Amino acid sequence: MPTIIVIGGGPAGTFAAISAKKQNPAADVILLTQEHCEPYEKPPLSKAVLLGQAAPTDALIAGPGGVASHGVVLETRAEGMAIERAAATVVLRDGRRLHYDTLVIATGSSPRQIPQLPLGAPGVHYLRTESDARHLRQELRSGQSLLVIGGGLIGLEVAAAAATFGVRVTVIEVAPRILARVCDEQTSAAVHRAHARHGVDIRVATTIASTELQPDGRIAAITGTGDRLTADFVVVGTGSKPDDALAAAAGLAVDDGIIVDGQCQTSDPRIFAAGDAVRFPGPEGLLRLENWRHAQDQGMVAGKNAAGATDTYLTVPSFWSEQYDLYIQGVGWPARSATQVHRPLGGDSMLVFDVSDGRLVYAMGINAQRDLAAARRLIERRVPVDPGALADPGQAMTAMLKRG
Ligand SMILES: Cc1cc2nc3c(=O)[nH]c(=O)nc-3n(C[C@H](O)[C@H](O)[C@H](O)COP(=O)(O)OP(=O)(O)OC[C@H]3O[C@@H](n4cnc5c(N)ncnc54)[C@H](O)[C@@H]3O)c2cc1C
Repeated sequence: MPTIIVIGGGPAGTFAAISAKKQNPAADVILLTQEHCEPYEKPPLSKAVLLGQAAPTDALIAGPGGVASHGVVLETRAEGMAIERAAATVVLRDGRRLHYDTLVIATGSSPRQIPQLPLGAPGVHYLRTESDARHLRQELRSGQSLLVIGGGLIGLEVAAAAATFGVRVTVIEVAPRILARVCDEQTSAAVHRAHARHGVDIRVATTIASTELQPDGRIAAITGTGDRLTADFVVVGTGSKPDDALAAAAGLAVDDGIIVDGQCQTSDPRIFAAGDAVRFPGPEGLLRLENWRHAQDQGMVAGKNAAGATDTYLTVPSFWSEQYDLYIQGVGWPARSATQVHRPLGGDSMLVFDVSDGRLVYAMGINAQRDLAAARRLIERRVPVDPGALADPGQAMTAMLKRG
């Protein structure tokens, strides 16, 4: 009976473990997580959890029965410290040594720290785990002013939750506009306006030169232009970096992420990897994605292949974000050379498409879930599209699928 070990209890690791067991029910599948609890979903941490609408562990990745209900053995507080490839062994922090026949690494990513506001400094928060979310929620209840560093998805979700509670929020973004990495200008502007309506002060093209802890316990940030911004607490949302140190120390190929091929195999044929920690072949070379669906889908392929399948991971990436009453979504591969087509929807809804060579390659919208679900299928099936029809809200997106 083969033993398949999976390191990392996020969506990539959890789905890898479940899929490995499904692929080979006779295998012993062990999921190692360094956290103290059953694997839980991260997206609610910056949304429903901060708003007090859900507890961090309400949404279990493996469903209400947990990982065990899928026949997988879960080991909590089990940090993988080393992978000894010659002996096919994972060494845990507590000294135990576990033999594997195949291994999946799904160690995820951690927040990028900024030197002026290191993790652990008083009043400074980074958001990644359920414990981070619990601490931040407490702070939202008692603090009156918040400084958010980074106008990306997580920073803005925290800003929205805080503003909803009546906390005075300032967001500092180094780029000339918020969400520059994921949204077109029009969508960024719509999100910016929503924050302004809720009283959030967003300062774009702004850097932090230095910070000071004031005698009253508040934090002062001095911007590149000399402005002094003070707040009761700070949330840093400046992106994340892959947790690839374990793989690198084991001598696997790593370059800003664990390098895998289309079948999620690392440079060692017995070791697979998936999720935020991984760089994999995309349409224009190796890339890393940090979103939930990618982690889940790639985890499934890695787990199946670790159990003997030879599936190839093909993806149409997507992300979503919830801020106030805005449900922001993107799907596909943004292309620099594409033509942009706007579909006027009215009210708070927006939809913009990137069309390249007569095909839809990317779609991004606000409060347009149904159209975006159709857009995903148009992209996946590579259906030829008519830009005129895309721009006309009178023409149903689902009807366009019939051309495929
Ligand atoms: C607050 C927040 C909100 C988000 N919101 C959205 C959203 O709205 N939409 C979206 O698409 N994506 C969202 N994401 C991103 C999404 O959650 C991640 O892309 C996804 O969790 C990545 O999954 P993963 O399994 O690769 O890594 P992770 O979820 O990071 O899981 C890795 C796990 O491995 C564990 N681990 C690491 N090293 C070891 C080790 N040596 N031994 C044992 N265990 C180890 C970690 O503790 C962690 O539990 C959000 C992320 C965060 C943090």
